[in-house]
Amino acid sequence: MEPALTNKSNVIFLDRQNLRAVKCEKCGAKMYPRSLLEPHLTRHRRRQRWVNSELRKLQYTFSHMRDIA
Ligand SMILES: [Zn+2]
Repeated sequence: MEPALTNKSNVIFLDRQNLRAVKCEKCGAKMYPRSLLEPHLTRHRRRQRWVNSELRKLQYTFSHMRDIA
């Protein structure tokens, strides 16, 4: 369900920065400085909640349609 990241080319990796960067376990993006990881993970969680709620709405709609038909 994870959409492809399109902004990878915007990230400039320097060896010195890589030592201090942290890797996001969800999408593999490297965060620098480390403090960026927490808001990044929060975005993941928020997006996952949104996806889940949209899926529930779809499932409800489909089951409702089946009931009518
Ligand atoms: Zn991520």
